[in-house]
Amino acid sequence: MKQAPVVVVGAGIAGVACARELVAAGVPVRLVDRGRRLGGRMGSKRLGGRATDLGASYLTASDDDFAAVIDDWHRRGLARPWTDKFTVLDAGEPARETAGPLRWGAPGALRSLVEDLAVGLQVEQAAVVSVDAGPDDALRVDGAPARAVVLAMPDDQARRLLGPGLQHEAAGLDRPSEPIIALVATWAERTWDEVTPSGVFHGAFVNGDRAVSWIADDGRRRGDGAPVLVAHSTPGLAADHLDDPSGAVPHLLAGLGRILGLPAPLETHVHRWSLARPTGTRAAAFRLSDSGLGICGDGWGEAPKVETAWRSGRDLGRALAARWS
Ligand SMILES: Cc1cc2nc3c(=O)[nH]c(=O)nc-3n(C[C@H](O)[C@H](O)[C@H](O)COP(=O)(O)OP(=O)(O)OC[C@H]3O[C@@H](n4cnc5c(N)ncnc54)[C@H](O)[C@@H]3O)c2cc1C
Repeated sequence: MKQAPVVVVGAGIAGVACARELVAAGVPVRLVDRGRRLGGRMGSKRLGGRATDLGASYLTASDDDFAAVIDDWHRRGLARPWTDKFTVLDAGEPARETAGPLRWGAPGALRSLVEDLAVGLQVEQAAVVSVDAGPDDALRVDGAPARAVVLAMPDDQARRLLGPGLQHEAAGLDRPSEPIIALVATWAERTWDEVTPSGVFHGAFVNGDRAVSWIADDGRRRGDGAPVLVAHSTPGLAADHLDDPSGAVPHLLAGLGRILGLPAPLETHVHRWSLARPTGTRAAAFRLSDSGLGICGDGWGEAPKVETAWRSGRDLGRALAARWS
């Protein structure tokens, strides 16, 4: 009889990294995502004829394995070194610059990198409703048998899928995520460089503003120089506007005016991330139970970022594949 596949639910970078490991080990995989396109929180949208990053702003690499993945993207023109310097805007203080690790962007937006990792994988578009264990303890995804199941998503989403026979697996899936609303704003020309001491604005950490927490220069990040900024809200503003994200727009525009002295943009686009970033910390890189239920994503590891999600998915894929080697 044909073996049931491992069902990987979620084709963000964690789920794709996990599925790749399983396929490489010869394990049959069914990769499912409810989104119209894969990539999850590395999402982007085509606006004004160009892709704009709406979720993750950039990649960083602190370990050699992820650095090698980025190097490969760089060699093939998919990723580009962006900057190691951002502006810091503290309320009431002069602007200053801070140096950090090299941040990477993608000319085709960050989603294109997840799409590249997924080459050769079939992604099925479907919203999974329930993952459960039958009386025989065999796992089922919406009633279909699965050899193992991977939930590659934030805790809040994973917990909701667990059926009555898997309620014991919900314990510890208690890392809440905070929301962010992203505003894309386009002008006719770039007029914000003078805000920063070096005269070249890449992005700014904004501290103490009630509406805006971060501003990215999408043209510099992507390398096409388009006069487009992406502002991320504070979690508080996002929480107040989860049901009407467009209600946050005037607050974000007022924030951009306050912080960068900008006039009204020509065009705007708003996107809500209800579960943008896991709060708190968790050291474990993934969870894998004896029953074959695996959980991975950016909530598993030191900091909730792309590198963490990639490593979590890869390591869970390897651990699962080792069960059948
Ligand atoms: C606004 C914002 C800014 C960020 N900035 C940065 C940054 O600058 N640098 C950085 O490194 N990281 C950043 N991050 C974090 C980074 O985006 C995440 O760490 C990473 O993308 C998480 O990947 P993941 O695969 O774990 O989860 P996700 O990308 O969330 O993938 C989960 C997938 O599961 C799917 N899914 C969920 N439920 C179901 C279901 N029932 N059925 C089917 N599919 C389902 C979803 O559609 C989604 O595609 C940012 C995130 C946001 C939102």
